[in-house]
Amino acid sequence: MKIVALAGGVGGAKMAHGLAQILPPKDLTVIVNTGDDFEYMGLSISPDLDTVCYTLAGLANPETGWGRANETWNIISNIERLGGPSWFRLGDQDIATHLERTRRLKAGQTLSQVVKDFCAAWEVKQIILPMSDSPVRTMVDTDEGELEFQEYFVHRRCEPRVKHFRFDGISAAESAPGTREAVASADAVIICPSNPWVSVDPILQFISLQNKIVVAVSPIIGGKTVKGPAAKMYEELGIEPSALAVEKHYSGLLRGFVLDAVDESLSSQVSVKTLVANTLMNDYTDRARLAQDVLNFIRSL
Ligand code: GDP
Repeated sequence: MKIVALAGGVGGAKMAHGLAQILPPKDLTVIVNTGDDFEYMGLSISPDLDTVCYTLAGLANPETGWGRANETWNIISNIERLGGPSWFRLGDQDIATHLERTRRLKAGQTLSQVVKDFCAAWEVKQIILPMSDSPVRTMVDTDEGELEFQEYFVHRRCEPRVKHFRFDGISAAESAPGTREAVASADAVIICPSNPWVSVDPILQFISLQNKIVVAVSPIIGGKTVKGPAAKMYEELGIEPSALAVEKHYSGLLRGFVLDAVDESLSSQVSVKTLVANTLMNDYTDRARLAQDVLNFIRSL
C-alpha cells in the first residue's frame, strides 16, 4: 500500500517513523511543512524537515523530539559568551546540517535536492519531500502584533495570544517536485498528528486531496496537546480544543478519523468513519502499533 504522510515536526515525525517501521521504504513518502523555516544567524533552518529526517535516520533526540541525540553545545555556549543570540538552541551536530544546507542553497541547489542528498547520506530510504522549494513563512498575528513563527514559538514560548495565521509567500510558491505525483499515486494519505493550524494547513495549500482516501490522526488527546500550542491556539481562536475540533478543521477532506481511546465518547459525533486507538506514542513500539492500526483502518475503508 502506497502512503503519503503529511507531517510537521514532533507528532509528524513520530507517526512517519511508525509507518517506516512497517511499510517498504518505496511505499512511504512524507511531505513536510516548511512554513516553520527561517534564517537565524545567517543559517537556513528547516526545523520540521530536520526533525523528520533525523527521526527516520535514527539520529533524533528522543527526549526533546527535536535536534540530535548525543548532542554537544560548544558553539552556542561560545556564541552566548560573546553576547550573541542563543534563544534558538542549536547543537554542534545540528549546526553542521544548517551550515551545509545554507552553503548548498546559496550555491543554487533547491531545498528538495538538499533533502534528497542529506537523506542519502543519513541512509534514510523513505522519500522525504518539502512541501515547496520556495520560501513560505508562517506569520502569527497575535495580541502583540504579527510575529515570525519561530519568534512566537521558541523565543516567546507561544505566550502571545493568537488571532490569525498568514503564510507569507504561499501564493507565489509552487509545490516541490514529486509532491503532486506522490499524492496522485498514493493509495491513501495520512494526516499525521501534527498541529493543524501551523504544520498541516500550509501543506494542504500545495496538494489536492480530491478523490483520495484521507485519514487524519488527532494531535489532541483529552482536550490537550501532547506537546506544543495546538490546543492553546484553538482556545484563543474561540474553539474548544478537542479531537472533534480537529476533525471539523479537516472537514470535507477526510474519509476516516483516528481519535484516542480517552476520547472514545466523542466518536459518535464524528461525521466520518472513526478508529479509536491508543494514539500516544511514547516509544518506538507505540509508533509502530499506531501505524499498523491506522493502515488496517485504511484497508477497511
Ligand atoms: P512541530 O512542528 O514540532 O510542532 O510538530 P507537529 O506539528 O508535527 O507536532 C505537534 C503536535 O504533535 C502537537 O499538537 C502534539 O499534540 C502532537 N503529538 C506529539 N506527540 C504525539 C503523540 O504521541 N500522539 C499524538 N496523537 N499526538 C502527538
